[in-house]
Amino acid sequence: MSALRAFAAEVALLLAVSAAPAAVQGDMVALTRPSPATCVTDDGAVFTVENGELRPVRGQFMISPPGEQELHPRTGISLDGAPGQLLRMYVWSAEPLDSLSLQIGSPGKSPLTKATGFLAESRQGTEMWVALVGLPAWCSPKEYTLTLSAAAGQRSYLLLQPFTVTGRNFFSERIPLTAELTGIATVPDVHKKDESRLLAAVLATPHPDALFETGTFIIPIPGGRRSAGYGDRREYDYSDGTKGYSVHLGVDIASPTGTPVPACGRGRVVFAEARILTGNTVVIEHLPGLFSVYYHMSSIAVKTGEVVEKSQVIGAVGMTGFATGPHLHWEVEELGVAVDPDALARGPLLDKNADFFDIDHAIAPKGGESNSLYRSQ
Ligand SMILES: [Zn+2]
Repeated sequence: MSALRAFAAEVALLLAVSAAPAAVQGDMVALTRPSPATCVTDDGAVFTVENGELRPVRGQFMISPPGEQELHPRTGISLDGAPGQLLRMYVWSAEPLDSLSLQIGSPGKSPLTKATGFLAESRQGTEMWVALVGLPAWCSPKEYTLTLSAAAGQRSYLLLQPFTVTGRNFFSERIPLTAELTGIATVPDVHKKDESRLLAAVLATPHPDALFETGTFIIPIPGGRRSAGYGDRREYDYSDGTKGYSVHLGVDIASPTGTPVPACGRGRVVFAEARILTGNTVVIEHLPGLFSVYYHMSSIAVKTGEVVEKSQVIGAVGMTGFATGPHLHWEVEELGVAVDPDALARGPLLDKNADFFDIDHAIAPKGGESNSLYRSQ
């Protein structure tokens, strides 16, 4: 059951059994009953009634067992973004949280994007959680709903806000393919399906201890010629006269075979193998759920599990897999949503100017080695 639905059911229950469901306390409206929970909303929170259920629409909602103080974190969230953007949402809580999650979508539809928050710092009695949210290249400009949920024991916090996706123009091109490449692209192959399931699983699995990079990514091979951009719309002319369509999820950097490929940031290698479509492939996790991906290399210089430094060579440019010439395909994925990698080379992943940010007070991940998230960049 989604947090929202669970919440709506909870509030409906409160209303059903309470003789006086709404009590006005100053400028705050509280829905209360003796047990099992108390619901408190902020000023301006909005509900609607749908099929006899009360549904929260906008604002902040806190549910706690009676007598307990409700969670009331501070939030720093974006209320708009463009396709391809990686949004950074911050939540500060005076009390330790068990979990934080965030999603953007339309009611009744599967979410456009989801984020699992991670604990980035705990200092002076305040926890700072971060949720990284990728907006897909293909998402339509319109208004969605942002839902942020946090929990600590039996207490939960819910925030609902309108979220606007703005427009962005992408480049379109037609690509004729030889018979050989048409075969690679179109012939059904059980190995290709297994490979895509495996890679999708890697990119959907955040590791809470993957706190490696907060700074600015470097562009691998900055002097290379750009042969394709992020979000390019592609129409393929197959050799049999049929067509295929795709959205390019990374950037292509043309460079001679053998050119060294550096890691764009510090991180841990979570995948380093040859694949049918993408050739020699490396995936590095920089923050929980944030991965950089490198395709078509002629060789791989790292192993799964290895921690690599920013600029460390992880392989060499090639044209293995589905490639028409030697180039590096560089992609950045946030929990399975490819975002614009160039934007992450223009500024740091996390906001270093915020008051919570202290390189000397990094927390250690539970049961892990000492954490270097906030080391100097
Ligand atoms: Zn590419």
